[in-house]
Amino acid sequence: MKEENSKAKELSDKLFYRKKSVYEYTDSAHVEKAYDYAKGYSAFLDAAKTEREAVREAIRLATERGFVPYALGDKVSAGGKYYYNNRGKSLYLFTVGTEPLEAGIRISAAHIDSPRLDLKQCPLYEDGGMSFFKTHYYGGIRKYQWVATPLALHGVVVKKDGTVVEVCIGEDDSDPIFYINDLLPHLGHENDRKPISEAIPGEKLNILVGSRPFDDSGNKDAIKLNTMVLLNEKYGITEDDFLSAELSVVPAIKARDVGFDRSMIGAYGHDDRVCAYPALSAIFDCADSTHTLMCVLADKEETGSDGNTGMKSDLFLDLITELSKALGADPAMVRANSKCLSADVSAAYDPNFPDVFEKRNTPLLSAGVVLTKFTGSRGKSGTNDASAEYIGWLRRVMEDDGVVWQAGELGKVDCGGGGTVAKFLAEHNIETVDLGVPVISMHAPCEVIAKVDLYEAYRAFCAFCRT
Ligand code: MN
Ligand code: MN
Repeated sequence: MKEENSKAKELSDKLFYRKKSVYEYTDSAHVEKAYDYAKGYSAFLDAAKTEREAVREAIRLATERGFVPYALGDKVSAGGKYYYNNRGKSLYLFTVGTEPLEAGIRISAAHIDSPRLDLKQCPLYEDGGMSFFKTHYYGGIRKYQWVATPLALHGVVVKKDGTVVEVCIGEDDSDPIFYINDLLPHLGHENDRKPISEAIPGEKLNILVGSRPFDDSGNKDAIKLNTMVLLNEKYGITEDDFLSAELSVVPAIKARDVGFDRSMIGAYGHDDRVCAYPALSAIFDCADSTHTLMCVLADKEETGSDGNTGMKSDLFLDLITELSKALGADPAMVRANSKCLSADVSAAYDPNFPDVFEKRNTPLLSAGVVLTKFTGSRGKSGTNDASAEYIGWLRRVMEDDGVVWQAGELGKVDCGGGGTVAKFLAEHNIETVDLGVPVISMHAPCEVIAKVDLYEAYRAFCAFCRT
């Protein structure tokens, strides 16, 4: 009997697939490295709360590592490290390898925009002794999460003469913060009965920005006037300058370790900086690969990847075409032989909400980087469904490097769904699959990730760049 048991144990170890915790399958030195790596990531998060800031920070880091600006039509050469800055909102970094370009490019594509509240074009008004900004939310948010919480204002105002004014208020400890009023529980009886999706309608997401009038005259709009006077003094802008501004309201919080064991990070915008950062550091650290590498930091993923800074923009094809021209390659061949990791987050299993997750196929926190064969909703609608052949190749690549990874999909079949940039790369005849970090409370003002998953993502991107 005993012998049969041990035989069964041996066989199940050999034959069964089991998710591995990073802690179980690595040693403490590995975990220390992961926690150390997370420090650089937290600094990146604090420096890059919007796509514009992420582009600026990525360029700063790339420049330190010898990357130089590239313009369409420029010559490139093996060993070169380049970046293409697309309108300050998306970034394409690439390194040219020693093998022919027609062997394909190793592409990692993440996005650097995150859900937030954008100011409307006529935002400022006064009501009830306070001044406010009207907002229009950007991306998928649960609106109730954004009220009664400290907020910061980031972005640019472009004046009629072309001058660009940078705005960032609410991040420094000495800065004021902003706020969205919420209903007190004492008067919330009626409101409490509404479905959560209706409790805070979009038009109630108004940002509290002032309450002091310009003078004691009692004139109408004296508080609005005072707000405008202060903005004019600080930024030299008038109300019509909001017409050509991109101002975003984001949580005024910094990335912080979570838990007694400091094993996790709580921050705004893990989706998708938690993939953008490891993809970026992998191209930095693997720039000497024989392969040509590209790291895409895309904008507009949260609203559908549209526009000239989104992943659907022809710029991606133009860059491949121009690179091919510069290196004497056929762009169709280059694309046909390229491989892509669509670097985006997945939802980690949350024991607080077990009903929406299918436990056998949901990513677990601390079980490593997640490979997602398909995304989409309902019957795989809107998905890039990666081929078994490509996943087979990638399994080998990761496992040969000891990367701890897990397969996973986003929640139960009929509970909702979501997409990534994967399908927009795959439609150019590029092998593409989703790979990223599991997130708790995705799209919330403060999301949580595990440091060991972040590190395995970095190691997966490195294995992909080098193999
Ligand atoms: Mn995402
Ligand atoms: Mn998202």
